[in-house]
Amino acid sequence: MTRRISIFGATGSIGRSTIDLIERDPDAFEVVALTGGHNVARLAEQARALRAEIAVTAHEENLDELRARLAGSGIEAAAGAAAIAEAARRPADWVMSAIVGAAGLPPGLAALETGATLALANKESLVTAGPLVLETARRHGARLLPVDSEHSAVFQGLVGEDIAAVERIIITASGGAFRDWPLDKLAEATLEQASAHPNWDMGQRITIDSASMFNKALELIETKEFFGVAPEMIEVLVHPQSLVHALVGFNDGALMAHVGPADMRHAIGYALNWPERRALPVDRLDLARIGALEFRAPDDRRWPALRLAREVMAEGGLSGAVFNAAKEAALDAFIAGQIGFLRMSEVVEEVLTRLSGDSGLIHAEITLDNVRAADDMARKTARSIIETGA
Ligand code: NAD
Ligand code: MG
Repeated sequence: MTRRISIFGATGSIGRSTIDLIERDPDAFEVVALTGGHNVARLAEQARALRAEIAVTAHEENLDELRARLAGSGIEAAAGAAAIAEAARRPADWVMSAIVGAAGLPPGLAALETGATLALANKESLVTAGPLVLETARRHGARLLPVDSEHSAVFQGLVGEDIAAVERIIITASGGAFRDWPLDKLAEATLEQASAHPNWDMGQRITIDSASMFNKALELIETKEFFGVAPEMIEVLVHPQSLVHALVGFNDGALMAHVGPADMRHAIGYALNWPERRALPVDRLDLARIGALEFRAPDDRRWPALRLAREVMAEGGLSGAVFNAAKEAALDAFIAGQIGFLRMSEVVEEVLTRLSGDSGLIHAEITLDNVRAADDMARKTARSIIETGA
């Protein structure tokens, strides 16, 4: 039986890894929608190769080029955020949510409303609106599967277990590009240095977020939302080899570790084949050759983002949406060369401090409109802090 699938963020790192897997078994899938951003050539090429029904670019100014590149193929072309959400309403069995940033939330919600299984790489969906995402899935009988490697690892560790027997969940972090840098050098870290990951090959934004640990900060919140556990039960462990992705600790003292290659096609493939396990084209680890696995406690001075995530989990409500949007604005400014590497967490902390007193904003009901309002306010506040330097 062929399955209808859509990929949001098809042109990115996760999107391409997803396509790599489905191309190996072309008769099993019928591709509904593929979406991308500025890389229209790649999007059109993917849509033609997979014979998608529709290809959508996020940017209206790219529509003419997309149409031209799809001419004669019979594939529909569309552009803009509304067209992306519209494409997510087309019936599909399995939908990959792999847009980067808060823009991934609306299409993910739209796909859940159709009852589709949503493979969630876009961690920002759970960070900005966890309760809304889970409630939407519940109401429409849709299933949510984790794709982030740590969360896929925890999910696999929980198969056949009772969540009530879980004492703690440990997610690992490579430590990113600056794990071993002297602390006093961090302020001078360049964009190029922050964009190089020691173990994983990922999109630029998540790679920089790995160096700052904003990625792990988002993942702490994602863990709390996805598995519904108390923040105190979740730990971060620095693990330079990136082979143990997470550990689940049970009330009898057992720790179940998930060990696998640093290749996202494992977690994507698990979500694609769930509830079965099928063979995947990833490396088989030779632990005798690897020899040693190291673990260290994370240093809050090096990675203040982890402390900020704990504050966000304690505050709840829309503080995750504020945190994520402030982080995105600070990251934009770092990429544009407007602020230094360490300034990112200072900006985010300042936004959280300024907006946390606004309980009308933070503790409003978690709806898409209120998430957008909190997101807008946080970006504006971050930009004003960046521009005035205060
Ligand atoms: P990427 O930058 O490689 O790709 C992002 C995709 O989103 C591209 O298709 C791009 O065109 C699209 N996009 C960007 N801005 C958009 C917008 N405003 N509207 C619509 N589409 C837009 O990113 P990635 O590394 O593939 O990451 C995708 C998501 O998966 C992120 O949420 C990331 O945190 C998560 N994730 C990635 C990895 C990884 O290994 N790359 C691992 C775990 C989780
Ligand atoms: Mg991860």
